[in-house]
Parts: sequence; structure tokens; C-alpha cells
Amino acid sequence: MKTEFIKLDPACPDETMVRRAGEILKAGGLVAFPTETVYGLGGDALNPEASRKIYAAKGRPSDNPLIVHIADMDHLYPIARRVPESALRLAEVWWPGPLTMIFEKTDLVPYETSGGLDTVAVRMPNNSIALALIAASGGYIAAPSANTSGRPSPTTAEHVLGDLDGKIEMILDGGSVRIGLESTIVDFTEEVPVILRPGYVNRDKLEAVLGEVRMDPGLTDEGATAGLRPKAPGMRYRHYAPRAALTIVEGEEDRVVAKINALVREDEARGLKCGVIAPTESAGRYEARDVKNIGSLANDKEIASHLFRVLREFDDDGVDRIYSEAFNTPRMGDAIMNRLLKAAGHQIIEA
Ligand code: AMP
Ligand code: MG
Repeated sequence: MKTEFIKLDPACPDETMVRRAGEILKAGGLVAFPTETVYGLGGDALNPEASRKIYAAKGRPSDNPLIVHIADMDHLYPIARRVPESALRLAEVWWPGPLTMIFEKTDLVPYETSGGLDTVAVRMPNNSIALALIAASGGYIAAPSANTSGRPSPTTAEHVLGDLDGKIEMILDGGSVRIGLESTIVDFTEEVPVILRPGYVNRDKLEAVLGEVRMDPGLTDEGATAGLRPKAPGMRYRHYAPRAALTIVEGEEDRVVAKINALVREDEARGLKCGVIAPTESAGRYEARDVKNIGSLANDKEIASHLFRVLREFDDDGVDRIYSEAFNTPRMGDAIMNRLLKAAGHQIIEA
């Protein structure tokens, strides 16, 4: 299949192009598009055949459900059986935005889209191209991240092309995404709302609207040690993984720098190519040849938005080993460390 690559101006997306992309989706085809979090691989969420194609194009396990993207609040009720008042309050503040909510699903949502579950994940993305495309496609786009399953999520249209060229009908290029990490997922099917995946909308922001919020115990270190599994199926798989083995080194800055420099020296003496991920504050202190400055600790949004790109760049550089500092920053630290730990297969050492 020939994949069409179309550049669009996010400030004013060409209507004819958006309509054409919408027609592809209505006909059961696949279109990748930008959102504010990462690029999504879209198919008609109400068409089981389209969802099957999404799993096939990504190589995604079919028990890992897809998020349904809507552009209009009225489109929520036909797919969600019970929408609690607290979820509406959250939508009022954060939709359109980087927030996904889980509800019991109606029969309109095929099990192919919900990964066999009786619940559905719904989000209204904050991106003009995405919103125009959803409206042009009939109102419901199932869209996981537009990467090959297991690879870092795509934050540019070129990343999507690298993974999915020849496998989907069209890629809409709207430039680099703003946030760079996937949406926060909150489950509203339990008594107290539960965070199933940390993201830009952090716990403090959720509590400001909802009051009590729980963290899925399967996501915490204690939960994992006790053998609990994350409730969101996608959080159970190794994910975001660069080709090189990645190790996180945690601790006080001087010790971390010394530890990583020692590890790199050992590896390089054995002929291995090493890369280091460090913040602006300490990047100059590393001896490795391939040091990537991921952004300043004073601005962790910058770190979040660079993470997946940096992991992909190490693939292109062909490094054998990557060492990263830990980023337990106050605002986005939970989300950044959740992705980094998964990319590292939970390899973390204390300096
Ligand atoms: P992605 O769109 O690639 O970021 O993946 C979507 C994430 O949402 C995966 O981790 C899924 O497991 C999760 N998800 C989607 N639908 C549900 C649901 N009904 N219940 C729990 N998790 C869900
Ligand atoms: Mg994904």
C-alpha cells in the first residue's frame, strides 16, 4: 500500500484534505494524525474491521484496548453507559485535553475496539487537526499511538512514517506535538476514580477537581513487588523500548555522574557504544561520546516532550547501552518515570 504523507497547517487545516482523510476513515481505512500528546493511528472506532486493521498495522496484542476519540460532548453518551457527575466536572476542565476517561461501554462499541472489555476509554484531544478529522469521519476515531508496538511513541510525523510506511493509507503531518507523553487515564468504573496511567494531568490537578483519587496499585513499586498487575492492559507490556539496553541510575547528582561515567568507561573498554540521557544541569559532566541533553530540570514539561524523540535518536545512532538519570520532578515526574522505567524494563540502580 502507498502511504500518502500530507502536510497540514495546524492553525488552519486545509478542509479538502481533512474531508478526504475523513472519507478514508469512513471507508474503513487508517489515517495517522497529530494530537497534543503523541501521534495517533486512527480508524473508525465503531467499525470492528478498522480496529482489527489498527492492531495488525501496529503489531499490537489484540487484548490491549484502543482509546476512542471524540470531538463533541454529545458523542459521549451513545458509547458510555454511565457517566458520573464527577467525570463531567473533569471534562469541563480538561476536555479537549490530555485526559482519557474509562466508562462502562454500550453495545455501539465493538469488542474489537475495547480489546474484549465491557468498558471504553474516551478522550477529546486538544488539536485542531485531530478535532476536524474526528468531525469529518463520523465522530468516533479509535486511535492508539501511531508507533510499531513496543517502540517509543511518535512525537513527529516522520516517526510515524518510519514505523508505518506502506501499512496505512495516510499520515497527516501537523508538526511536533506539544506534550509528548500519552494522556493521563482515569478509571470512572470504580467507587473512587483511579489513575491507570500517569500523564500531563497529574494527581494534584485531578484532586483539585475530584477530591479523592487513587493510584492503580499495580503501577506502584510496592504493588509490582507484591505481584499486582496494572489494570490498563497496555501498562503490562514492555513498551517505549529503544533497541539498546537502558539503565536508569538514581541518586544524588555527583554520585550519579560518577557512577554513569564509570559504567561508560567499562563498556567502552569492551568496545560497546554508549549513550547518556541527562538534564541541562549536568549534561556537560558526562564523558560518553553520545550525551543527549533532554532539557532542564526547572522545566520538566520540556523533559517530557523530548523523551520519546531522544530514545528514537539513540536507535538511529546505533548505541549498544544507554544510561539515564532519573527525573523525579514535582510536576511531571510520575509520568516521565513511568515511561522511562518501562523503556528500561525496570532496570534501575542506586548510585
Ligand atoms: P495508547 O493509545 O497506545 O496510548 O494505548 C491506550 C492505553 O489505554 C493502553 O494502555 C490501554 O491498555 C488503555 N486502555 C484503553 N481502553 C481501556 C479500558 N477500557 N480499560 C483500561 N485501560 C484501557
Ligand atoms: Mg501506545
